[in-house]
Amino acid sequence: MEENNIKKPGGKKRFNFYWIYVILTVILFGVYFAGRDEAPQEEVDLGQLIELLQQGEVSKIDLINKENAEIYLNEKGLAKRFPEVKADRKGTSPTPNYTYRIGSLERFEETVERVQQESEVAHPVYINNVQHKSWGWELLLNLLLPLILLVVFWMVLMRGMGRGNMGGGQIFNIGKSKAQLFDKDNVPVNVTFKDVAGLEEAKVEIIEIVDFLKNPTKYTRLGGKIPKGVLLVGPPGTGKTLLAKSVAGEANVPFFSISGSDFVEMFVGVGASRVRDLFNNAKQKAPCIIFIDEIDAIGRARGKNPMNGGNDERESTLNQLLTEMDGFGTNSGVIVLAATNRADILDKALMRAGRFDRQIYVELPDLIGRKEIFEVHMRNLKLAADVDRDFLAKQTPGFSGADIANVCNEAALMAARKSKDEIGKQDFLDAIDRIIGGLEKKNKIITADEKKVIAFHEAGHATTSWLLQYAHPLVKVTIVPRGKSLGAAWYLPEERQITTKEQLYHEMVATMGGRAAEQVVFGQISTGALSDLEKVTKQAFAMVTYYGLDEEIGNLSYYDSTGQQDYALTKPYSEKTAEVIDQQVSKLVEKAYHEALDILNSHRDGLTQLANQLIEKEVIFGEDLEHIFGKRPWDQDTNQPEASNNEPTTENHEGQ
Ligand code: ADP
Ligand code: MG
Ligand code: ZN
Repeated sequence: MEENNIKKPGGKKRFNFYWIYVILTVILFGVYFAGRDEAPQEEVDLGQLIELLQQGEVSKIDLINKENAEIYLNEKGLAKRFPEVKADRKGTSPTPNYTYRIGSLERFEETVERVQQESEVAHPVYINNVQHKSWGWELLLNLLLPLILLVVFWMVLMRGMGRGNMGGGQIFNIGKSKAQLFDKDNVPVNVTFKDVAGLEEAKVEIIEIVDFLKNPTKYTRLGGKIPKGVLLVGPPGTGKTLLAKSVAGEANVPFFSISGSDFVEMFVGVGASRVRDLFNNAKQKAPCIIFIDEIDAIGRARGKNPMNGGNDERESTLNQLLTEMDGFGTNSGVIVLAATNRADILDKALMRAGRFDRQIYVELPDLIGRKEIFEVHMRNLKLAADVDRDFLAKQTPGFSGADIANVCNEAALMAARKSKDEIGKQDFLDAIDRIIGGLEKKNKIITADEKKVIAFHEAGHATTSWLLQYAHPLVKVTIVPRGKSLGAAWYLPEERQITTKEQLYHEMVATMGGRAAEQVVFGQISTGALSDLEKVTKQAFAMVTYYGLDEEIGNLSYYDSTGQQDYALTKPYSEKTAEVIDQQVSKLVEKAYHEALDILNSHRDGLTQLANQLIEKEVIFGEDLEHIFGKRPWDQDTNQPEASNNEPTTENHEGQ
C-alpha cells in the first residue's frame, strides 16, 4: 500500500472532498429538472385525440415503447391551440404537444386509422413506432439518479463519521487503517521517559522491548523468541498511554499509534480490513512498534452463544487481529503494544502465548510514585517556597497520575484566580479537596479510619501467611487501592503439582487472616473480606467434595471432569450427604478462622507494627516482615523468591 493513507500529523491539508459531492448533487438535480422541462405535454383522452384527428390538426404521432403516444400538431393545430409555438420547416411542432396513454395498442391503431378514413383529411397521419426513445433518460431518472444520490448521501455520512481522524474520509479509504505514524521525519510527541514518573519496572520492560527490536540477534542467537505482543494493564489514568507515547519518542523506530475504537465502524468488514492494512503497513516499516490503545474496544471476549449474534463486526475484527498476530514471525521486527484498563474482559485468545504473551502492570502510584509525579507536573509551575512534595504525596492516597496532573493544574488555576504570582501550599490543598470531591462519587477515596482497617486487614494476611509453614511466602503487601479492591497482597506460590491437605488448610488460615485481624484489633468485622470469604468457601467446598480430604465424606469426589453433568440441577449425592457437606465445609472454614485468631492474638505486637508500617509506607515487602518476625524457620533457601520465575499471585480484597 502507499503510505499516504497514513495520516501524517502536520502534513499538507487534503483537498476537501465535500465539494465534489456538492457539485455532483447540483449537476444531477440540474439534469433531473432539465429532463422534466423538456416535455410539459398535456395528456389527452381518446375523445380529444379523435377530435384533433378529425379536425386535421395532427402532424404526427410517435408511439413510445408501445405505451405512450406523443402527438405533434401541425401548423393549423398550433395556430389554434399553441399560438406561441412556431412550427418547424416541415410544418410540425418541434416538441410533442400532447400525450396519450395507450391501453390496447391494436385498438388504438385501429381507431386512429378509422377516424382518419372517415373524416378524409388531406394528409393522413401514420403512427411512428419509436422504440426506447427516452429509454436512457428514463433509466437515469428512475434508477440511476436515486442510486447516485444514495451513494453521495452515504459518502457524506461516512465523512461525518470518520471526521476528526482523517482529512479526506474518502469512501475508498474506509478499509485503510487510521493509524498515526511517528518516525524519524515526524516526531510530534515530545514525551520521553523523563515525563513518566515512577513505573520503573514498566519502563525497564519497555526498554527491553525496544532493545529487542534494535538488536534482535542478541536475543535470538540463543534460540529465544522475541515477544510479539505486550499488554499494558492498569487502572485509568495511571500513565499507560503516556508510557506508550514515550516509547515513540525514545525508541527511534517507526511507531504506529491507533485506538481500538478506530477499528470499529458501522460497516461490516471494515474493522478486519483496517487491521490487515495496519499490519501490512507495519511489516513494510519493520522494525517498528504498533500501539493499540484501549484494546478492549475490540478485544472483548467473544460471545459464547452463537445464537446471540452479539457483535459480529467486532468479533471479526478481533479474529483478524489474532490471525495477523499469528501470521507474522517472531523475528519479523514488529512488536504490538496494547493498553487497557479492562484486562479482565479481554478475550482469552488474545493473551495466549505468541500473542500478547507479556503483560506489564501499571498500578496506581504509591507514596514515592506520587511524589515523583508531582515533581514531573510541577516542572513548569511557579511554586512558592512552602510547597512540600512529600506532604502533598501523603495527602493524595489513591490518586492516579492523571488525578495528580489535574491537582497541579487546578492549583495553578486557583492561584491565578487570586492573582497570585506563585502557587502556594494552600492552593494545592484546595485543589486536592476539589478533586477528592469529584473522586468521592467514584468511591475511590479512603478515609483515615478506613485506611487503618485496611492496613490491619492486610497485615493480618501477611502475618498469618508468614507464620504458617505451608502458606505461600509473601512478596509484597499494599494498601494502595487497585480497581475495586482496597488492598492486595502478593504471594509467591511454590511450584507444586500435588497439594497436601495441610497446605490447603494453611492457605485458608492465611486468607481468613484479614478478617481475623479486624476482629482481634477492632473487635468488629467489616464487609471488606468478601472476596476472602468467597475464596475460602470455594476452597473448603473443593476439599470436601472434590479432593476427598474430609473424614466424614471420605474418599469420594463429586467432580465431573467431562463437564457433561449439570450438577446445578441434579446433585450426584443424597440430601443427607448434602447436609453433611454443608456442615463439614462450615466446620473447616470456622476452624481456619479460629486458628487465624489464635495466631494473631499471640503475635499482636508484630501485627500492629506491620500495620503501622503499612499505613506509613503503603507498600511493604518480604524483607520488612523478616525484620519484624524474623526469618521463617522452614525457609532454608532464603533468596528463593528472587531466584524463582513464578508469577506472584495476587489477592484482592473487595470493598463493600
Ligand atoms: P491511561 O493509563 O488511562 O492511559 P494516561 O497515560 O492517559 O492514562 O494518563 C493521563 C495523564 O495523567 C497523562 O497525560 C499525565 O499527564 C498524567 N500521568 C499519568 N501517569 C503519570 C506518570 N506516571 N507520570 C507522569 N504523569 C502521569
Ligand atoms: Mg489511555
Ligand atoms: Zn483480605
